[in-house]
Amino acid sequence: MHANDANRHKHMNIDLKNLTIQKAHEALQKGEFTSMQLTQAYLDEIKKRNPTINAYLEVFADALDQAKKADAIIAEAINGKQDFPLLCGIPCGIKDNILIQGHIASASSKILENYHATYDATVIANLKAEGAVFLGRLNMDEFAMGGSTENSAYGPTKNPHDESRVAGGSSGGSAAAVAMQGALFTLGSDTGGSIRQPASFCGVVGLKPTYGAVSRYGVMAMGSSLDQIGPITNTVTDAEIVFNAIKGQDIKDGTTIDEKTYLSASSNSKLRTPNSKPVIGIPRDFLKGDGIDPAVLKAFNESIESFKKKGYEIKDISLPNISYSLMVYYVLMPAEVSSNMARFDGVKYGLHKDGANVVEDYFETRRAGFGREVIRRILLGTYVLSSGYYDAYYNRANAVRQMITNDFLIAFESVDIIATPTAPSPAFKIGEKTADPVAMYLEDIFTVTANLTGLPALSVPCGSVEKEGKQLPIGLQITARHGDESALFVVGKDFLNEK
Ligand code: GLN
Repeated sequence: MHANDANRHKHMNIDLKNLTIQKAHEALQKGEFTSMQLTQAYLDEIKKRNPTINAYLEVFADALDQAKKADAIIAEAINGKQDFPLLCGIPCGIKDNILIQGHIASASSKILENYHATYDATVIANLKAEGAVFLGRLNMDEFAMGGSTENSAYGPTKNPHDESRVAGGSSGGSAAAVAMQGALFTLGSDTGGSIRQPASFCGVVGLKPTYGAVSRYGVMAMGSSLDQIGPITNTVTDAEIVFNAIKGQDIKDGTTIDEKTYLSASSNSKLRTPNSKPVIGIPRDFLKGDGIDPAVLKAFNESIESFKKKGYEIKDISLPNISYSLMVYYVLMPAEVSSNMARFDGVKYGLHKDGANVVEDYFETRRAGFGREVIRRILLGTYVLSSGYYDAYYNRANAVRQMITNDFLIAFESVDIIATPTAPSPAFKIGEKTADPVAMYLEDIFTVTANLTGLPALSVPCGSVEKEGKQLPIGLQITARHGDESALFVVGKDFLNEK
């Protein structure tokens, strides 16, 4: 059989559940299946599950054409006895706030319902350079504001483990797509936990990279000092592969870090000798709140026990100002949101509504185009930035942000990794928290600190709890020093027993 003869074996049974990027790459190399066959397998799965799960807002009509092109590259490489990029021919899904030239990018908002991207985000250009296959656009909370994907203008994404529950958010579509075998990997964005929390709810792996490790060019800004793009995958090894493909300094994003600085930061670990295991710190005081589901605490404690059995040293640490992080986040993030949303004025992008005059045009467009949560955050942000309150809220929050960052710097003098649960509860019911924004914001208690401090953090599955006859996944979050994603990968792989 010819490796690229897709039609003869169009519908072959590929074990998508146990597939990883590495395994798929090897199978493509050996001609066990083609990218067209692999892509078709994912399209079949999407067809089966997406009508209920609602992870994809759109499946691209040209997915198989893209796969065909990848197959040609692979065939050429094989003929020339050469290797081809790890992501060549690998089907992926993209959160709908990341621009793919020629495609709609709606950020799950009515205001951008028919907005077509005119260029590729840098992360997309990087994936295209590797030959990845783009299956479609993934559902999210409108402009990434939310923790359950219920703020999407196009309906919530359901959790593949229990369809009466949320997939988490705001990258709920990205996490559900991987969990339902609707893509081998996806990209999400994380401003306060939006990659890690849905990964935790859906039982998959999610990485929020170091601030500046991955370019934000071509990604719709929510909170510009907090946003990072990262992968959602089945394994830590896969997350590392995708991270390596999308990271790097970008002249189009002045906040990206030079690779050399980045690498020297990674080797900055004073504690780690080549043969010793990273030291893991636990902020015990932070885990005492009664808002944490006992099942989450149990899974967390069992994870720590398993680290001990593997020979890790575990230390209690204190992060004295961490209890302010949620408050600081919910002052700074809306401030940045309110200014980032100002560009949607009915003139530059997407929807336009006519009012009596140009100012009324703005009001009409924004009233019709934005959902309630976006409007709430614009109001909050405008308030904390207004002249009478700027010092009391915005400036003070910035000062506390620095104190929290200092707490982490001090903690990282005695440990290499900080472990917490990813979210205080497993996936909750659709509708359970929609009437109470503060209850929804509390979901972010463990995740926002990585964004406030710019540190890299990874969520890995760490067990499950049975609720109403369904197994709901739970996530463990590990945070490392600035630029030290490699420590997260080492510890994450060890934890999940990946080779
Ligand atoms: N749930 C958080 C919020 O609502 C995080 C959002 C995000 O990371 N994009 O702001």
